[in-house]
Amino acid sequence: MSQPTPPAFVQGTKQLLIGGQWVASNTGQHIDAINPANGELLCRIAQGSAQDVDRAVAAARKAFEGPWSRFTAHERRKLLLKVHDAIMDNFEELALIETLDMGAPLARTRGYKEWLSQLLQFYASQTGLAGSSTGTPMSIAPNFMALKHQVPVGVVGGIIPWNGPLMGLWWIYGPALATGCTAVLKPAEDASLSSLRVSELMMEAGVPEGVINVVTGYGKDVGQALSGHMGVDRVAFTGSVGTAQAIVRASAGNLKRLQLELGGKSPDIVFADADLDKAVPGAAMGVFSNTGQVCVAGTRILVQRAIHDEFVQRLAAFAKTIKIGDGRESGVQIGPLISQRQLDRVMHYMDIGGKEAQLVHGGQRLTGGELGKGFFVEPTVFANVRNDMTIAREEIFGPVASVIPFDTVEDALRLANDTPYGLAGGVWTQNLGTAHKVSQGIRSGTVWVNCYGVIDPATGFGGTKMSGYGWKGGKEHVESFLYPKATYFNLD
Ligand code: NAP
Ligand code: MG
Repeated sequence: MSQPTPPAFVQGTKQLLIGGQWVASNTGQHIDAINPANGELLCRIAQGSAQDVDRAVAAARKAFEGPWSRFTAHERRKLLLKVHDAIMDNFEELALIETLDMGAPLARTRGYKEWLSQLLQFYASQTGLAGSSTGTPMSIAPNFMALKHQVPVGVVGGIIPWNGPLMGLWWIYGPALATGCTAVLKPAEDASLSSLRVSELMMEAGVPEGVINVVTGYGKDVGQALSGHMGVDRVAFTGSVGTAQAIVRASAGNLKRLQLELGGKSPDIVFADADLDKAVPGAAMGVFSNTGQVCVAGTRILVQRAIHDEFVQRLAAFAKTIKIGDGRESGVQIGPLISQRQLDRVMHYMDIGGKEAQLVHGGQRLTGGELGKGFFVEPTVFANVRNDMTIAREEIFGPVASVIPFDTVEDALRLANDTPYGLAGGVWTQNLGTAHKVSQGIRSGTVWVNCYGVIDPATGFGGTKMSGYGWKGGKEHVESFLYPKATYFNLD
């Protein structure tokens, strides 16, 4: 079958974006960008260093204090809409770059288009939040006037993972452009290409030099330097708990503001009265989408005991129908895992699951034919899982569903909340009372009732407990790139 060929952008060695210029890293080293569907080299990215971070932060500071600081809310909105158009006009290329670099099927990456359009328009609609001011009536003498503003926090460091950078980068760039902040982005070294191409398109669309900067490289070099940098005012991080803890420690030097969006082990609860024609595919794709590499994945499927066996059998039957392959092929629903490292991690958990629970479907790497060159695994279903088993406690970040039986609503809630995480959850039932009680009882930032994974940019999402803090999307997100400032005038 003919597959789309890589865009011209995917060649050579990609450089760093610092102060509006594409520049070499001072290390002179590079990192291979690999297509996880076949293990082949796509191109190379620069291996940035702490010195490159210094240069990028200096450029971002200069831009923050320069002409960008005098952009009106209206001008920032116009710029965001220009960026929107540039992204939409080049979306086919961006979707293909993302598919090549991180493996998700084109059906998925192309599918981001409408959602990203909504997201960018949302941020464009929020530019009035920064700089807005009010003369407040006060309890002090009438010759005083107060002016309260929302002021941009400054230079924002963005550190993002590899599981969907074409979407994830906008949680940094969107609010930065909306508020007048500037950004230094560090994409994951396993999938940096869409961040680089998006940033190039943004510069062409008129984003002033230094307002966005990209330093590719390893977390231990670039990520660590960014999170400890005295010139960075805020870090927006998406990734794992361990890295977040390192970032919290590194941020102490200048008490920088943090936004931490971490992992999950989200419960998806199916009651016996659920419409299984919807619940089975809904819960299945709540785990298997993006090959399970989704922070909000509903990996603990809690199923009421009366329907446990039927549900498991239907879930396994559904998993068998999923087309796995190179994301460039039409009809493919799930692609490879991101890397050999992630493959090893997922296979490790599949081995553990095979020992502690009942394997019903999957559990293997796909080694036949062309797929053997990539990092493909079968969507996997374990049944009769107990909530204290390793596969029910640790985030696997692969297409592995653990079905856990429960008896009552109280049981379901106890099991659902017996996890260190609190990112998301789901409920499938036709009983409104059950839906209300359970959705309110789950301790997480987002709950879906009779659906899974829907996110409205204007509403947003976030986590609690060890899934981190800081809301993404919605007005709160934009406000978290601002701080309040009051000025008192004595008019006498
Ligand atoms: P990770 O290892 O924490 O990596 C995330 C980013 O942090 C990467 O860019 C990484 O660089 C960088 N990094 C690594 N060490 C660092 C350090 N010491 N200081 C600063 N930055 C550092 O996470 P991952 O395993 O790639 O991603 C999967 C995790 O992200 C899962 O836990 C998942 O649930 C979570 N996630 C959460 C959300 C959400 O919104 N809640 C969304 C997606 C993913 P490298 O490129 O060198 O790895
Ligand atoms: Mg790659």
